[in-house]
Amino acid sequence: MLRLLDKFFHEHCPQCGSTLIVCKTPFFSSHIIKTCPNGDYTKEFHPALETYIETRNVG
Ligand SMILES: [Zn+2]
Repeated sequence: MLRLLDKFFHEHCPQCGSTLIVCKTPFFSSHIIKTCPNGDYTKEFHPALETYIETRNVG
């Protein structure tokens, strides 16, 4: 469980390899957003939908 969480919270940006920063939004308590510190990749996790939404900022 801890290793699973550790892996989840230490994913790397597919663009530049930086560790993604976790931002848990206050408005959607179970909605987790992870972003690249360089701003070129965003990954949203929607537990209710059991899906990820990935956004790659090109350029
Ligand atoms: Zn990046």
